[in-house]
Amino acid sequence: MPHTEKTISNSKRIVMKNPIVELDGDEMTRVLWQWIKDELILPFVDLKTEYYDLGLPNRDRTDDRVTTDAAEAIRKWGVGCKCATITPNLQRMDEYKLKRLYASPNATLRAALDGTIFRTPIMVNGIAPYISGWKKPITIARHAYADIYKSAEIRVEGAADAELSLSYKDGQTVKKTIHTFDGPGILMGMFNTDKSIYAFARACCAYALDQKQDLWFATKDTISKTYDGRFKEIFTEVAGEFSDRFRQNNIRYEYMLIDDSVARAVKSEGGFVWALKNYDGDVLSDMAASAMGSLALMTSVLVAPGGQYEYEAAHGTVTRHYYKHLKGEETGTNGVATIFAWSGALRKRGQLDHLPGLAAFADKLENAVTETIGGGVMTGDLAPLYVGTHPIRQVSASGFIREVRTSLFS
Ligand code: NAP
Ligand code: MG
Repeated sequence: MPHTEKTISNSKRIVMKNPIVELDGDEMTRVLWQWIKDELILPFVDLKTEYYDLGLPNRDRTDDRVTTDAAEAIRKWGVGCKCATITPNLQRMDEYKLKRLYASPNATLRAALDGTIFRTPIMVNGIAPYISGWKKPITIARHAYADIYKSAEIRVEGAADAELSLSYKDGQTVKKTIHTFDGPGILMGMFNTDKSIYAFARACCAYALDQKQDLWFATKDTISKTYDGRFKEIFTEVAGEFSDRFRQNNIRYEYMLIDDSVARAVKSEGGFVWALKNYDGDVLSDMAASAMGSLALMTSVLVAPGGQYEYEAAHGTVTRHYYKHLKGEETGTNGVATIFAWSGALRKRGQLDHLPGLAAFADKLENAVTETIGGGVMTGDLAPLYVGTHPIRQVSASGFIREVRTSLFS
């Protein structure tokens, strides 16, 4: 992307104290990543980062050490910003000539940092959600630990007795029949820990308080009386610890059944934090993102119980666009969620390091983005959603970043 001439003098750039842990990634988002830094951040901020290259070739070169090192760095510095990365499958293994199939970097980071993922749509004047009643963003808080993502599974080949068996360290055992198979089938065992659920509940309550929004928590405890029942008990206890602060801020905690919560969410006007177990959060965050308009307008932040934050876009590496880009063609890849990953990390760094100028720059950057779109200038994915009053001017991925840059300088 050709640099625009205009820049500001080095002495006027915002100075940082501590670094942001920068996790670079793959394909089209890696291209956007560099453009965003060059055009929207470096001219204004004397950017301090600790750089980790999570691009697939470097993960392969380092036997994926780079991912665990990056998690360690986030634990140390408190704030990370991550580009989308490829989760390799067999086809990718062939394409990149990988030594082995690596785990998803996001799964590795979540396992290392524990924590909760909060996904919030970026709402822009003129971009209407598909669900017309939604006036305010809905944040989905997904418990990012265990359940089916860390389960043990068995393909049952024929008639068999399946039982749950638990052996305590003191020698006591508990056994329960699951099912008597009279033919082939499938079996899964999953778990969670009180420690992780408490951390999840605390993160959700703290986030709701921070955002001054109601907190919903939904499971299926009528059916899963012990497993989901334990989630509900812990949430009730932790919400109790927060009840005074919730009342002072005029917000509420409410438990509901998952099916009831879906029906109520669709009929609501939005503006709440919706806490969900790992799988429910996985599914419903995609539903909420699409209903809000576009996956490219969805931000994602992992909040760890140790107080660390990792910001990223919710979408992937946009492979199809990357191959167009490699052929020298312009693409209409929407960089908004990646810009917001950077602004989120810069704002948090500003708050933690008492640098109001840095946090104010993050606000300014986000406003420049939403005002650009509100004014009718957008990438092609948003054009069909635009119901604003300005004539639409459709721009390329780099064209959009240039427009935002012009707005930042004006
Ligand atoms: P994707 O990269 O999110 O893209 C799927 C499709 O959604 C794109 O082809 C594009 O549609 C549209 N899209 C997504 N983001 C867009 C944007 N910013 N601007 C415009 N359109 C956008 O998902 P995927 O194709 O399933 O996955 C590609 C790679 O990303 C995979 O290797 C996967 O492992 C990885 N991935 C990473 C993360 C992460 O790091 N957090 C998350 C998900 C997936 P059109 O082609 O119709 O324009
Ligand atoms: Mg999903």
